[in-house]
This record gives sequence, structure tokens and C-alpha cells, in this order.
Amino acid sequence: MKAVRGMHDLFGVEIAKWQWIESQVKQVFENFGYQEIRTPVLESVEVFSKTVGDETDIVEKQMYSVQKESESLVLRPEGTAGFVRAVLEHQLHRDALHQRFFYYLPMFRHERPQKGRLRQFHQFGAELINDDSPEADAEVIALLVAIYKKLRITEYEVRINSLGCTECRPGMKKQLLDFLQPRLEHLCELCKKRFERAPLRVLDCKRETCKTAVAGSPQLNQCLCDQCKTHHDQLKKRLNEADVTFIDDPSIVRGLDYYSRTAFEFTSSLLGAQSALGGGGRYDQLASRFGEKPFPAVGFALGMERLVIALEAKGAFPEIKATPDVYLAALGNLPMDHLFPLSIQLKSSGVQTEISYAADKPLKWHLKQSNRLQCKFTVILGEDELKKKVILVKNMAAQTQVEFPLDSARTHILKQVKSEN
Ligand code: AMP
Repeated sequence: MKAVRGMHDLFGVEIAKWQWIESQVKQVFENFGYQEIRTPVLESVEVFSKTVGDETDIVEKQMYSVQKESESLVLRPEGTAGFVRAVLEHQLHRDALHQRFFYYLPMFRHERPQKGRLRQFHQFGAELINDDSPEADAEVIALLVAIYKKLRITEYEVRINSLGCTECRPGMKKQLLDFLQPRLEHLCELCKKRFERAPLRVLDCKRETCKTAVAGSPQLNQCLCDQCKTHHDQLKKRLNEADVTFIDDPSIVRGLDYYSRTAFEFTSSLLGAQSALGGGGRYDQLASRFGEKPFPAVGFALGMERLVIALEAKGAFPEIKATPDVYLAALGNLPMDHLFPLSIQLKSSGVQTEISYAADKPLKWHLKQSNRLQCKFTVILGEDELKKKVILVKNMAAQTQVEFPLDSARTHILKQVKSEN
């Protein structure tokens, strides 16, 4: 049996790398005042079909569905729609004090797997609700910048755009439709189908023919209403003040339908073909797609697997090694009667302890194991020590050895470990 295509088992060094990234990123979220939220893996299909958009790749082609009795469920393909479902369900937007949330969750999309593109992948995300100011947009972008800074990733570009609001979006669509109409025959089948209902999607198509056909399309930011233009200008001012270097790029439309006003993308030369490092935007109208009164919100998501690729490409992972404090070597069954309970006591007292239950191995074998595991101390108990009622504690780095009374072994080992840490 093998793992499902596009989904990976994680263990060993990989896990250590992931845990290091997870701890660094969570620290940044906490510094910025974001609290964690976890939503279920399964959601009703409508959570995504109503919000992400019928004409998007995610909804049209990539969702994993589960039919159980009369329920049509899907495995979460992205974080924001489920987050908004949870906010509305628990009325979190009525709580004026807590408006900043982060998540770290697995996502599922039936895409063609390749380097940096998986079918089960993991995203960190941030969502700032109840705030329609450009400062909120600038804050989440600066937060994403702070995450990359914390991970010492500097090789990326930030692109921002404004997608307009309910006021000015119809004008944008009209201009785009007029531009695309005479070029329709050059578009791929999917874009031909999508074109009338969602012309912005055509700008996001990755096929070369479509990319060529939309070259020279109208600059959508020229159609922004006064409020959207002011919002965008203020965002740029705030980003400059926060020392965030960015490119104002009218071609950024993002692959999801729910964005309004600000949209942004981070790309990195460290990643190869799948160059998107993270992205997000404002989604002030999303709640209305559930038939609820909308609340302003802005957020982003970034891919864990791509962080790993970027850090590996740079060779920037710190040396990660878990070094146990003690190794217990029981040379025979009688010594094991003492070392087994001692190992449980030490582990329960916060000492990282290794023990082999093979009581028939020679000392040489145990010392080799202890060395390979890079343990700081090896505790040795054989028949001779038992007779003398002592225990040997060997400092592996200094290659020195001390004898302690067996009945107070635990206290002495704790003292030794404490002095070393
Ligand atoms: P999106 O939700 O599509 O805007 O993606 C946000 C981020 O998630 C991207 O910038 C990537 O870093 C990551 N990502 C998206 N799709 C995948 C995937 N299939 N495999 C791995 N990472 C992904």
C-alpha cells in the first residue's frame, strides 16, 4: 500500500524542520496579537461553492467530496470560507476585543502534483475581521513580511492590486468583456465557458494561449471608484511607512472570487515553477454570500511545503538535533529491574531519557547506541555495580565517569543533567 498520490508521510528530519518552522511562525502570529482558530476538515460543499466561486479551479475541478447519507461534504480546499462560516456561527464578529485570528491547517485540492504542488498541503493563514481600513490591509501584509523575515527568507517580491468594490467592479468587468469579446476564439475551452460570468478569471488562467490573448488588457485599476482609489493609495502609503517594498501590479486578480479591494501575492525565485509563496486580500462581502450581513475582513494564506522548499534551496535551516539527556544501559535482567522504573521516573521529571530494553547486550553496544543518539550522559548498571549498590554516570563529551549510590540515583542524575543544561 502506498500513500495517496500528492500526499506525503512526514517523519524524521523532515518533522524536525516542520516543527522548527511552525514554532517560528506561531511566535510571529502571537507577537502581532493573532489567536489560533481550528475549523473541521470537512465542511458542507456550499461553504466553498457559494464563496470561492463556481467558476474557479478550486470549486470546478479540485474539491474532494464525501457523500454521507444526504450530506454533501468536501475536504477543506482553503481556509477563509470555513473561517467565515465559523465567525458567523459563533458570532465572533460581535466580539470587539478579539479580531485577529490565525490558522495552521491541512488543505486538500485535486491538482496535478509536482514540486511544490500537492493534493494535501498545509497553510498558515491570518484573518483580521471588523476593520475596513487600509491600515488593516497594511498590517496583514507587514505580518507576512515579518514571517519571512523571522525565517530569514528575503528572496521574494510583493505584488499588490485593488480589485474594486461592488460599486466599481461592474465597470471593470464591462471593460474586460469588451476587450475579450473579439479575442474569444483564442481562449481555452474553460475560459470561453467562464468568460461571461467571470471575466476576471480569464486574467488568472495559466495557459499560454490565454496569457497571450489577455496581453494588453485594460488596466483595471483605472476603473476604481474614488473610495477604492483612496483606500489603495493609503495602503501604499502605510506599506512605505512599514518599510515594505512592493510592486503595484494591476494583473493580480487571485484564484478566488471573494476578494474586493486589496489583493496581494508574494512570489519567490527560490521556488521554481510554483513560485507563489503566499497571498491574500480583502473579502468584505464574503459573509453576504452566505446570506448574512457582511463584515469587513482581510487575510492571507501561505504554504508550509513551499517554505520548506525555499529554506532548503537557501540551505538556511538551522542545525536541528534533538539531543537526549541520558541513556540508561542495563547490563542484565536484574539491573533492568532498577533501570526500567528509573527511566519512567526520569522521563516524568522532564529529563529526556533513552533506554534499550535489550538486557543481554554488552556495554560496548550500549555506549555505541548512546553515542549515535548523542546523549549527554550514559548511566550504567551491571551485576558488579549492583553488588556494590552503586550506579555509574558517564559524561559522554568529557569522557569522565562518576559513581553514585544506587538508592539515590534519581537525585544525582537530575543534578548532573541540570548542571549540564
Ligand atoms: P491560495 O489559497 O491558492 O491563494 O494559496 C496560498 C498559498 O498556499 C500559495 O501561495 C502556496 O504557497 C500554497 N499552495 C496553494 N496551493 C498549493 C498546493 N497545491 N500545494 C502546495 N502549496 C500550495
